[in-house]
Amino acid sequence: ARPRRDLVYPTGRVPRRCKNNPSVRIMQWNILAQALGEGKDGFIRCPMDALNWQERKYLILEEILTYSPDIVCLQEVDHFYDTFHPIMSSLGYHSSFLPKPWSPCLDVEQNNGPDGCALFHRSSRFSLDASSHLRLSAMMLPTNQVAIVQMLKCRVTGRQLCVAVTHLKARSGWERLRSAQGADLLHNLRSITSLGVQSNTGPVAVPIVVCGDFNAEPSEDVYWRFSSSPLGLRSAYKLLSSDGQTEPPYTTWKIRPSGESCSTLDYIWYSHHALSVDCLLDIPTEEQIGPDRLPSYHYPSDHLSLLCDMSFREDV
Ligand code: NDP
Ligand code: CA
Repeated sequence: ARPRRDLVYPTGRVPRRCKNNPSVRIMQWNILAQALGEGKDGFIRCPMDALNWQERKYLILEEILTYSPDIVCLQEVDHFYDTFHPIMSSLGYHSSFLPKPWSPCLDVEQNNGPDGCALFHRSSRFSLDASSHLRLSAMMLPTNQVAIVQMLKCRVTGRQLCVAVTHLKARSGWERLRSAQGADLLHNLRSITSLGVQSNTGPVAVPIVVCGDFNAEPSEDVYWRFSSSPLGLRSAYKLLSSDGQTEPPYTTWKIRPSGESCSTLDYIWYSHHALSVDCLLDIPTEEQIGPDRLPSYHYPSDHLSLLCDMSFREDV
């Protein structure tokens, strides 16, 4: 069975359901590109059977359907056109996809095309005001990493929400590139959201949510850039910890020939002045993940899905 994960309310109490301001459920997940999982990653403790796409796709879709998020941000999508776009459309989601310019999936024999980022929103909840497909730059040079940034409008509250999904450069030795890519994304977010709506008291910054596989531990420069940017972003998953200041111990856990790798690389950032986090999906325990780690027959990716409910703050 899939590991059982509970919704945790960080303030200790379940917030009142508000008809005029219902929460927005957001999912962040690196779903593991099929071509990379089978052809490149070398997950030596994961049976090849568990990576069979015809079964694995149902576990991914089950995870999405179980929690039924309003916004879904995915990385390593290499089955957009034949799977996620048609299925998510039939479930009432608007879909966008941006492949990496030189996806490593293309090096794998019998690949299904490049992998990239995908962003979905429930059409009954949001309309799409504007969309940007970004190729991230570093030191003025284009890189192989991308981001989708969309301006959505909530059909219930009339409020705008800027949502971004990204997947930064992987591996150690590339910390400075990740930091520069993060700076480029922040710069883009600043210019996109500064064009926001006017209120009686002047311009109001549009609330932002950034979901990503940053491939960076919290100690890295890119994490610091995000947490100290003038956009006022905070990392939602810190709220799971008892002090509210600590990221989870891991968001990905796998065993390759080079050894075991257990790290925190995935984040949901949000504008804390305009949004509040009502609840978060708990991180499975080491026992639930099991001795062979991820992926497995029970869990289809080497990264865990992150999920939270957010509300627009009433006082802004
Ligand atoms: P990244 O280094 O960002 O990583 C690509 C993928 O590899 C990620 O999805 C990452 O997963 C995964 N990965 C991370 N660590 C390991 C590991 N130890 N073993 C196996 N996989 C791992 O890739 P780039 O975007 O920089 O692309 C690099 C590849 O792209 C090259 O190998 C080449 O094939 C191709 N390329 C080709 C070019 C050309 O001119 N033809 C130009 C540029 C790239 P996760 O994020 O989950 O950690
Ligand atoms: Ca990967």
